Amino acid sequence: MRIVLLGAPGSGKGTQSSLLVERYAVPQISTGDILRQAMADGTSVGETARTYVMTGALVPDDLILDLVEERVVREDARPGFILDGFPRSIPQAEGLDDMLDRRQWRLHRVVKLDVPKKNILDRMTSRRVCPGCGAVYNLMTKAPQRLEICDVCGSKLIQRQDDTEETVRKRLNVYESSTAPLIDYYDGRGLLTIVNGDGPVERVFAQITSVLDAALQGPNGQGPKQQEPGA
Ligand code: AMP
Repeated sequence: MRIVLLGAPGSGKGTQSSLLVERYAVPQISTGDILRQAMADGTSVGETARTYVMTGALVPDDLILDLVEERVVREDARPGFILDGFPRSIPQAEGLDDMLDRRQWRLHRVVKLDVPKKNILDRMTSRRVCPGCGAVYNLMTKAPQRLEICDVCGSKLIQRQDDTEETVRKRLNVYESSTAPLIDYYDGRGLLTIVNGDGPVERVFAQITSVLDAALQGPNGQGPKQQEPGA
């Protein structure tokens, strides 16, 4: 099970990935999480990435491809993985193809989460994260029980520095120019399914799993291209 979750920032890729990890027992590989960890650890990769991340720009493709290649070869990724936030540009998608080809691995499906643009800004500026355990909340759709306090570990929630309105706008522009072209890239390869990501988390999850279950059962484990109603 090797899949890519595609979608604008704030479309719910991270939330859905965490649920998919449980269901399919494969790791989530989030380049955003890897970069944030590297920044927190103060590694040279983290320091290089910091200015890009903080301004909402894309970190250079070569650096990202190295990070992903290093991650996919780990033991826990042998049964597969969920790529969340990668690839984000055509050169990254080509790099991924190359990485997979060299190992004779195949991508089973690319699921694009579709959320109306007008909802994205609200979703992102109301996101809060826990600096203690990494739990993610949304003040509109998944609020913590106590205001701004993590349900899991009790730490005070914070806003990601790149979730401010100005940076979110930049990230959305970057998505449109660099990442959206991947929709045609994967559609042309018969791998794309578009899922309506604008609804309750459980409903979106049910749509994704029905797509993935079908993809895993199809000929050679690769089902037909599907389009969800309303997507
Ligand atoms: P995310 O958590 O996926 O929204 O990523 C946060 C930030 O990390 C992005 O705005 C980029 O600056 C950087 N980033 C994450 N993944 C990638 C990627 N695949 N390519 C380039 N930059 C990335």
